[in-house]
Amino acid sequence: MALNAGSSSLKAALFSLDDDQALANCLVDRIGPNGVFTIKLSDGTRYQIENLNLESHVLAMKAVINQLNEIWKDLDLIAIGHRVVHGGDFYSRSVIVSNEVIKNLESLSPFAPLHQPHNLEGIEIAIQLFPDITQVACFDTAFHRNHPWVNDTFALPRAFYDEGIRRYGFHGLSYQYIANELRIHSPYLCEGKVVVAHLGNGASMCAMQNGRSVASTMGFSALDGLPMGTRCGQLDPGVLLYLLDQRGMTAAEITDLLYKKSGLLGLSEISNDMRTLEQSEADSAKEAIDYFIFRCQREVGAMAAALGGIDALVFCGGIGENSRLVRSRICERLGWMGIEIDYTKNQKNSQIISTDLARTTVMVLPTNEEQVILRDTRSLMALRGATA
Ligand code: AMP
Repeated sequence: MALNAGSSSLKAALFSLDDDQALANCLVDRIGPNGVFTIKLSDGTRYQIENLNLESHVLAMKAVINQLNEIWKDLDLIAIGHRVVHGGDFYSRSVIVSNEVIKNLESLSPFAPLHQPHNLEGIEIAIQLFPDITQVACFDTAFHRNHPWVNDTFALPRAFYDEGIRRYGFHGLSYQYIANELRIHSPYLCEGKVVVAHLGNGASMCAMQNGRSVASTMGFSALDGLPMGTRCGQLDPGVLLYLLDQRGMTAAEITDLLYKKSGLLGLSEISNDMRTLEQSEADSAKEAIDYFIFRCQREVGAMAAALGGIDALVFCGGIGENSRLVRSRICERLGWMGIEIDYTKNQKNSQIISTDLARTTVMVLPTNEEQVILRDTRSLMALRGATA
């Protein structure tokens, strides 16, 4: 099982040992008195139960397990791979969970207070319910761990770097998946200079060379870089000082502002959802999209500069995979980088959307973070089996 325990939701994908296609995808949304539990099976069957009283993550997890047990009477869970937002400087790859791993991950909670404690709660619950099976932690930061120092540090006094205040980068499971796909389908491009744009409700870009991360638009937290559904993206730190000093806002108020009320939602005052904004006639919706596009164009330039060139631009994430408008508008002003997209291919969401003669290949590759959790969990189980 691949498990993603968030602040108010729990996502679980169930796999058999020898098949990459998920048998079931479960989502418990709005954990609390009015929880919604959705389960989709590989044959397309879909169940949804609303107004569930799932007051805690433990109850949500039990509901998922009970439902799966109803469907597969002989369900025998042998491993759980957990999505964990922060592996800090400890982990540059997935690891089998041990007491020491949990201690290390707990020490990182202050770095990602909105996500890490919930991810850890997911691990604790899974251990409680299944004490004898392999539990694996897979990190959003791990893929970025070997950045050159200049892409890893802020220009603060060095003691802060030593304390862990660094650019970690996130969405690493998605980038790992894209790097694997490129290695399989376009090994020549994978060896080159590739900018991957993961554009979804959370959004970032990654500069990759030889399938490894060199730079990322996200830094110490998942707030930096591109504007997102409700997160602000890049912000002058002077704004924070102003909000603290002059507006007297508390840390909690600023956290709420930057994580939940900014980005597309804050600018449009309509929605955090790109589809809704594309359909809206309101000027504020158009301006929110304009800002998103402009920042994406800037960051493609920044990522290409970090690489010293660009051979391919890859779009993924809900917006990157589906929004023809966003893709074409981002590419519109990138002709100077050899980027030129083919209108028809873009409309069809083809895998390659650049023109045949364009110097830079532009691709749309659907990402799949769960596959990375699945693969890493399988290989760590095999390793454990081999060393047992
Ligand atoms: P994700 O977080 O990766 O699931 O992506 C969610 C985002 O993708 C939301 O802003 C959606 O509106 C956006 N999205 C999904 N499908 C489309 C589409 N067909 N056109 C535009 N945006 C889309």
